[in-house]
Amino acid sequence: MIARGEIIARIARLKKERQAIILAHNYQRGEVQEVADYVGDSLGLSREAAATRARVIVFCGVYFMAESASILNPEKIVLLPVREAGCPLADMLGAQQLREWKRAYPGRPVVTYINSSAEVKAESDICCTSGNAVSVVDSLESDEALFGPDMNLGAYVQERTRKKLIIWQGYCATHAWVTSGEIIEARRQHPDAKVIAHPECTPEVVRHADHISSTSGMSPYVHESEAREFIIVTEGGILHRLKKENPGKRFYLASRRLLCPNMKMTTLESVAMALERMEHQIVVGGEIRGRAARALERMLGLSVRSKT
Ligand code: SF4
Repeated sequence: MIARGEIIARIARLKKERQAIILAHNYQRGEVQEVADYVGDSLGLSREAAATRARVIVFCGVYFMAESASILNPEKIVLLPVREAGCPLADMLGAQQLREWKRAYPGRPVVTYINSSAEVKAESDICCTSGNAVSVVDSLESDEALFGPDMNLGAYVQERTRKKLIIWQGYCATHAWVTSGEIIEARRQHPDAKVIAHPECTPEVVRHADHISSTSGMSPYVHESEAREFIIVTEGGILHRLKKENPGKRFYLASRRLLCPNMKMTTLESVAMALERMEHQIVVGGEIRGRAARALERMLGLSVRSKT
């Protein structure tokens, strides 16, 4: 077995040789986050992917994320270390299903969560992430919109907007199985802890939270909070970053089920192998890329404007 230090050194050497950047989602293994140039949520990773000058992007995440990087960077090589790392939520809405849904509700714009395939993005008017979904929906001229594929994020947005959403009934299996009973039990065990939940959790679970946010919004909340303990209701990979950025504070995962098997497929070995063999290259081309890019860029333009 090769020592971890040796693999890390190999990744650093290959990264330089290939002129590569490593992007990692907050749900990746801690050791993968440590070798990344940037760690973030889908919105932050999209922004990094759009702005990078690197020749190669190694995307430590799941398939749709590497697709998004390819859509935003057609001239760059995008590598996904494990080709099988997919997202069951993204698979719950196919392009044909979306076309039929649009026909059933003509004239309504389509807001698609970034957790979707390139083909689905190409059928959409604008994308959103959990961090900007409410402002994306509020930005629409229409009073009604189709929102998919995540029904829990849709319900969260519906409670915070005046627009009427017609919501696709998909869900993230990792977040959706957490129960309010588990939150109540976690609070009983840690009575001084604040509960932070991701909006992919069910409305019943979200109602128990002191703070609801995308993964990138969690660390600033913890940093500013006077509380010392936090119950985290999102995928467990985020604990690595929360602990690192907030030493002295304590974190408890609300449920043992909060682990996404797809996010955990990427290892240091697979990152090194991806750089060595220059695989697996994810390419979104042609007309699908052009239309998907419009939906993604419309979202990114909006989030840039709302930051200024
Ligand atoms: Fe998909 Fe959920 Fe895994 Fe994220 S945590 S990749 S939404 S299945």
